[in-house]
Amino acid sequence: MRTYEFWADKAAGLSIRNQAFIGGQYVDALSGKTFSSINPATAESLVQVAECDGADVDLAVKVARDAFEDGRWSNMHPAQRGKRLMRLGDLIMEHREELALLESLDMGKPVSDAMAIDIPGCARAIHWYGEAADKLMDEIAPTDPSALAMVTREALGVIGIVVPWNFPLMMACWKIGPALAAGNSIVLKPAEQSPLSILRLAELASEAGIPDGVLNVLPGFGETAGQALGLHMDVDMIAFTGSTQVGKLFMQYSGQSNLKRVSLECGGKSPHIITQDCPDLDKAAAAAASAIFFNQGEVCTAGSRLLVDRAIKDEFMEKLSRASASHVVGDPLHPDTTMGALVEEGHMKRVLGYIDTAKAEGATLTLGGTRTEGRAGYFVDPTIFDDVTPDMTIAREEIFGPVLSVLTFDGEEEAIRIANDTIYGLAAAVWCRDISQAHRMARALRAGTVWVNCWDPTGDMTVPFGGFKQSGFGRDKSLHALEKYTDLKTTWIQL
Ligand code: NAD
Repeated sequence: MRTYEFWADKAAGLSIRNQAFIGGQYVDALSGKTFSSINPATAESLVQVAECDGADVDLAVKVARDAFEDGRWSNMHPAQRGKRLMRLGDLIMEHREELALLESLDMGKPVSDAMAIDIPGCARAIHWYGEAADKLMDEIAPTDPSALAMVTREALGVIGIVVPWNFPLMMACWKIGPALAAGNSIVLKPAEQSPLSILRLAELASEAGIPDGVLNVLPGFGETAGQALGLHMDVDMIAFTGSTQVGKLFMQYSGQSNLKRVSLECGGKSPHIITQDCPDLDKAAAAAASAIFFNQGEVCTAGSRLLVDRAIKDEFMEKLSRASASHVVGDPLHPDTTMGALVEEGHMKRVLGYIDTAKAEGATLTLGGTRTEGRAGYFVDPTIFDDVTPDMTIAREEIFGPVLSVLTFDGEEEAIRIANDTIYGLAAAVWCRDISQAHRMARALRAGTVWVNCWDPTGDMTVPFGGFKQSGFGRDKSLHALEKYTDLKTTWIQL
């Protein structure tokens, strides 16, 4: 296992890419402006980063459009595109330590999680779409024999990708993989809190043979660079991951501009249901704790609403309390740390605000509930509220921090009613031995993913990921993701 000293030494010698990446070159923002990238674990500035705005977006979109039109990538043999993506996946793994460290320093997650989960997940996504690039067949429609009608999938053109800060590189790779495999060009805006790993990835993509101009990265703020990308008349599609609130803005930008396609991976308030028939309460309690404390609770699919059947409630809460004790807040570079810092001061204050509201509304605090003592950065202790009712603010709004709301139900019907009583529909889980009940409940839950007797067990790329209701639409992962980066064309030939 790598020690704290190993990571601290590596951090001291790190060379950080801090400029925009346009047309295969690192460049300053046209305005010359920069912003500070803060390490949330220390509250200190790591580096000044180019602050791109509308002018840089215009330039990058033009570069991406030129690359698309001259066919340097869009007309390359799909097997060649696949090979280069495979090489990029390999390079991600070769630079795993550097990328994991950048991720941890920039947004506060434990470096050990970034090493074990984020970076291998990024490589897996890029490899997966690299392998898929030349395995996609088009269709011949079953028309009258006097005609030949081909239904082909064509790349859209220039894709604007806008991603959040909780899994900066992984959210980017889930989109870059299929968008590039299909032959598109990209202008990507990372979250302002976490641009560093993606800026380094751009250079690795060049090294892997992805031609200049095909993958451009513009660090900057949502209200400027993000909005300019959303409103741009020459961007064909926006692939967005982030909050529901900003997702709605991208729908508006599309309507106000060129009706660009939009796919939205937004927020969640996922229910985690423990029935009386749960096959293993210890396992379920461990899963319930990691479902909310992993990545400091900054996970779109966080199991933030735990629904427990009254008949097993007391026994389960004891097990949950034991399982929660293994989630340790600490320095993200320390190998024993399982929970790092929240991404920024404003977000920490927001999470602490929800804790105050929960107390005021009458929920019972059973664990944590405070900022972690003795640390300069933005750490919050793992927090559990019991006696939460479905109308309370913490049962309804996405907190995006380590705060679990425990609700009690009597029987299957009530569990489903409470679980579905939300504007979101990203994920859900049910623990239940009886196969009929498990299927019945899985079918009744309104969510893009339902786990049975587990919580988010794998980073498997073969299954689609995305939401129902205000958690968004469009899917990442699996071959279905390719649908959103392509359009169908019918070519009808009269014979
Ligand atoms: P956010 O919506 O504030 O920001 C996401 C991105 O949008 C950032 O790059 C930001 O700069 C940009 N943005 C912000 N305001 C904008 C504007 N006015 N115009 C254009 N762009 C703008 O979200 P966040 O705080 O970075 O991330 C947390 C959210 O992301 C949570 O709601 C979480 O559930 C969601 N999320 C969803 C998934 C998923 O796959 N469904 C995955 C991870 C995170």
